[in-house]
Amino acid sequence: MLTIKTHDPAATRAFGRTLGRLLGKGDVVCLTGDLGAGKTLLVQGIAAGLGVSDDVTSPTFTILQVYETGRLPLYHFDLYRLDSPEELDNIGFAEYTGGDGAAVIEWADKFPAAMPEEHLLIELNRGDGESDRRIQLTPAGGRYRLLCEELSDKC
Ligand code: ADP
Ligand code: MG
Repeated sequence: MLTIKTHDPAATRAFGRTLGRLLGKGDVVCLTGDLGAGKTLLVQGIAAGLGVSDDVTSPTFTILQVYETGRLPLYHFDLYRLDSPEELDNIGFAEYTGGDGAAVIEWADKFPAAMPEEHLLIELNRGDGESDRRIQLTPAGGRYRLLCEELSDKC
């Protein structure tokens, strides 16, 4: 497990950018944390690290937003408004998580059983101050343990 503490939004975004540079085809990143924890901000950083040139906003109402202007496609999910895991099948969730791009999933803990077995879990929590955040990374699977090692060298 790897823990990163940030003290402002820019630092969370910068961490996301570092992660985005390391992501590859088929990678799955599961994000958890309360409203306002910084999940979308982290995804904005990941998008920047992938070279995505579009503005990244929360796909709460669309569930999925695909960005294709980067080094590889970014599949940005937000499960906040999803009522049942069956809806994930309807939008072709499995094709995206095993697909040509990197999948990043906000509110992944809503349907934990529907997440791919191997993934990088990132839990965001508020710290003491208004702008303090604790970012906890837990790899599930060898690929993500390697990714965490690379990240710990860079962060
Ligand atoms: P979520 O997607 O988890 O609901 P957002 O990324 O949309 O959260 O919003 C996070 C909010 O918290 C933003 O308004 C951001 O400016 C603020 N914030 C303050 N400090 C931090 C920090 N260290 N990291 C991330 N966001 C922060
Ligand atoms: Mg969000």
